[in-house]
Amino acid sequence: MSLAENFEKIQQQIRAACDRRERGPDSITLLAVTKSQPPEVVRAAAECGQILFGENKVQEAKAKIPLSPGRLRWHFIGHLQSNKCRDAVELFEMIQSVDSLSLAQEISSRAGQAAKTMPILLEVNVAGEASKFGYPPEKLLAELETINQLPRIEIHGLMAVPPWSDDPEGSRPHFRRLCELKTQCEQKLGAPLPHLSMGMSGDFEVAIEEGATLVRIGSALFGPRPTAGLRPSAD
Ligand SMILES: *Cc1c(COP(=O)(O)O)cnc(C)c1O
Repeated sequence: MSLAENFEKIQQQIRAACDRRERGPDSITLLAVTKSQPPEVVRAAAECGQILFGENKVQEAKAKIPLSPGRLRWHFIGHLQSNKCRDAVELFEMIQSVDSLSLAQEISSRAGQAAKTMPILLEVNVAGEASKFGYPPEKLLAELETINQLPRIEIHGLMAVPPWSDDPEGSRPHFRRLCELKTQCEQKLGAPLPHLSMGMSGDFEVAIEEGATLVRIGSALFGPRPTAGLRPSAD
């Protein structure tokens, strides 16, 4: 299938999942994940009308974004090290993967230097996996108000990557948990949080049924990522 056909198929699946929950399809934003894909892939997706892209390594994005059409918008979805915050604030319109107070503080400070305010999502380790980044839910609730008081960031919602499963239904309880946690965060903050970033190629339809507003899709659009040997080096 061509890339345009892949986009059309994903959009149809998004619409069908929205219909099952009587949600409007405009309530879902599709983030095209181009990590480890070359700039030509970004340009081809832009020609299909895609505007919003996700990358998980600052170095890779720093090389790729200048080679991409200037009208595109970028979200950061990987683990962010504090020494990369300055570049991240410059390159991205949202950082979806904030998982500690110290990182939020650094982003706020770098955003201040750049005379910006940075929209962020807080990443949650929904299943308490030792191998994964993300806030444990209790810690998130404990630090939420402190993060919310930082001058140069705006909390827009939560993000999670549930444990890998070859059955999309395996992700459902984790998506449900993240949605409940968003409600708890909204109660603490006394304000609505617009975004729930959950769902990837294998489970985005279930994520939409459970309240996702942002789905992050890579391989279902672009096929398997180029193998490790061809990837730019890690950050
Ligand atoms: C790679 C990645 C995705 C996209 O994964 P696919 O399974 O290729 O759709 C989504 N979110 C994050 C955080 C990722 O690292």
